[in-house]
Formats: sequence, structure tokens, C-alpha cells
Amino acid sequence: MSRTITVKFGGTSLADASQIRKAAEIVKANPERKYLVASAPGKRFSDDVKVTDLLYSCYSEFARGNDYSEVLAKIKERYASIITELGISFDIGAEIDAIEQELRTYPPADYLASRGEYINSKIIAEFLGWPFVDAAEVIFFNENGFFDGEKTFMTVNARLRDLPNAVIPGFYGSMPDGKIHTFSRGGSDVTGSIVARSVNADVYENWTDVSGMLSADPRIVDSPRPIEYITYTELRELSYMGASVLHEDAVFPVRKAGIPINIRNTNRPDDNGTLIAASLPSDVKRTPVTGIAGRKGFTSIRVERSQMNGQTGFGARLLYIFSRNGIPFEHCPTGIDTISVVVNSSMFDAKRDEILREIKNELAPDFITIEKNLAVIAVVGEGMVRVKGVAAKIFGSLADAGVNVRMIDQGSDELNIIVGVDESDYESAVKALYRAMIEQ
Ligand code: ASP
Repeated sequence: MSRTITVKFGGTSLADASQIRKAAEIVKANPERKYLVASAPGKRFSDDVKVTDLLYSCYSEFARGNDYSEVLAKIKERYASIITELGISFDIGAEIDAIEQELRTYPPADYLASRGEYINSKIIAEFLGWPFVDAAEVIFFNENGFFDGEKTFMTVNARLRDLPNAVIPGFYGSMPDGKIHTFSRGGSDVTGSIVARSVNADVYENWTDVSGMLSADPRIVDSPRPIEYITYTELRELSYMGASVLHEDAVFPVRKAGIPINIRNTNRPDDNGTLIAASLPSDVKRTPVTGIAGRKGFTSIRVERSQMNGQTGFGARLLYIFSRNGIPFEHCPTGIDTISVVVNSSMFDAKRDEILREIKNELAPDFITIEKNLAVIAVVGEGMVRVKGVAAKIFGSLADAGVNVRMIDQGSDELNIIVGVDESDYESAVKALYRAMIEQ
């Protein structure tokens, strides 16, 4: 049976006609690339404006009762030059008229925002000679605005089953009343994942403007090594890297179906990029540590009570105090008579007095110690479990760099070692860890 690849191209990969040509070449180079999910045109240069942002500003002018024709003209112009340079016939005037027509009925902001992907996908479909399938007809949200997976996967599958190829706009779908609703920003990644899952693709290729994920933050470490292979679990543990390369929610649909994601670079199509999969082929050689990611802005609340280990429910009640105040906990290292709860500082500061009062009243602790200005760094790698001396190396490198370790937490799966350091030591800690664990 022939393989199926779902491809998604991001905004910079489709920002102008020459980028769209590159994307088309990539698609045509492999007939397994059957379904294409498109973003709206993104930035062509660093201080350019994304079409989606133009659409949002058009909407805010409209909502304030101001004249929005200038912004709309800019949007029209962006598409008009793409159409001319691609040499296709496409009536952009009719699309813009349709938007103006719709604005008379006061549609939600999401409607306008979605037009970026809608028009771009129609143009790309025309250029490729592929059918266009509107996401509003196949991707659904429930009345609370949550993605309706069951209905969507079935509908996308039924719609695409008989189409050898199709272009589907990313970023949006429709509500039960037919109104357009979008995912959060960067949501075309999610659409790509949904389409890949629905057609049971062999791979979900996510084409962007970098050759994959990096093993550390390039603002701290000089040209960090790219990550060639990473498991879904490692990726989650590295979530402090942020969603700069891939929208966090894009992982879930494909991960459940065991479909790997391949992050690729439209401007360097020969690079392998990063392959994210549930498990990796056994012949893949990797360093024990796959990546290092961290973040500043945490506070640790350490609660001490003698003979805590003999009591039941102490930890549950402590965590419940945080949950009922709406504060998720990040890490929770324990000692025999202590539990520390590491939380986001700004969230904690907003509820600090209530939380401390509740801990005192409900748990009668011997001491509560608050440590502020904590940075948390995750050193992540499935290979760590098989190698001796990893922890020694991690802590040795931090000691050599003069970094004082204020917290240690190891995930129960030996996949990560979390260290808490003073915020002022954060950059030197990441550099030292990178040098010792990845650069070697
Ligand atoms: N165009 C949307 C945004 O700029 C969605 C996307 O590109 O993924 O957020």
C-alpha cells in the first residue's frame, strides 16, 4: 500500500510567491505527500507583518467602528502580488468582497482571522491543481469551543478518503451553529496533526523555517546542536523550550495514533530536521541527554512537619490548597518530613496570603520556607537511565561553574533530572550543562 504523508507549511514557508514555489516543489518531489495544510502568509522579513495580524487589526478597526479599508487593502495587496507572481488566475477581489459582505453581519473576530489561511489555501490549491477542502466543513468544535475529535476525525477521513490530494486551511474549524472558530495562535500545526491522524498518515511533516529543534536555547548557548531524534515523552519534558517550533497541542492527535512528526526546513529541504516519535529505531545513536530546557520565575514553598512520613493525606491536603486556589504545581520534591511545592511565582504572589493562611490553619506545619527567584532546568534524555555517572556529571559541571543547586528532582521514569538554581545563575548553569552533557 502506498504511504501517505500529511504536510503542513507554516507562515514563513508560504509568505510570498517564491516561498510557495519552494513548498510546491517539496510536495511534488514525493507523491506520498498527499494532503497539504497551509498557514496564512507570514513574515517575509523580520519587521514584516503577518497576514493574520493584519486581519486582527482589521477586525479591531471594524469593531471600534473605524475605517478598516486601508488594512483590508494591504491584505488584498499581499495576495494580489502572490497571485501575479505565481501566474495563476484567481479572483482576489471576489474574496475581499465576500469578507466585506460578511462584515455586515458582524461576524466573530475568529471569522476574519481565519481568512488568512482560507484564501492562501485556495491560492495554493489552484497553483498545485489540487482540490481545496474548507476546514469549516470538516473540523469541529463543541458549543464550549473545545475541539470535537470524534466528529472531526470521522468527517476528515470520509472527505479525504476519495481524494488523492487536497489542500486544507489550518487554524480554524466551525462551531455547532456553523460559525468559524480558531485554535490559539500558531494553530495550523494542530490542524496538520488532526489531518494526519484522520487519514492515518505514516508521517506528519511540519515544514517551517528552521532545521528542527535545538538541544538548548540558542540565546544562551552558541549554535546548539540540532536534535535529530526525540521521543514524544522527551518532548513533553522539554516543554520549557516553549512552543517556538511546534504548537504544544499539535502533539496529541498524532501521538495517540503513533504517527511521527518530522520538523523540516522549507529553505533547506535536504536537512533531515527533527523526528519526533513514540519510540526510536534501535540503531539510532544518541547522546544520553537529548536536550536541556529551563525557565525562570518559580517559587518553592517548603512545608515541614515532623513525622510527616507517618501521616496520611498530608501531601494531598497541601496540593489541594494549591489546586483550589487555581495554581498548578510544576514540581514537588519531598523529604522525609518535608514537601516542597514549586509553582509559578507570579501566580503564587497573587494568592500568597490566602495560601499561607490555609496551610497554617489546615496542616499546622512546624515551618514554612519560601524560596523565591528560582529557575528550573530540565536535563532530559531517555538514554540517561542506561549510563552510569550521569548525575555525577550534571552536578559536577554545575559545581565547577560555581552554581549552587537549590533543588533537585528526578522524574520517576529516570528520563529527566530537574535542577533548581538561583535565577542569577540560570544562564551559566545552562551553559555548563550543555558543555558537559551534550557538547562533550
Ligand atoms: N496564522 C495563524 C497565526 O499566525 C495560525 C498559524 O499560522 O499557525 O497564528
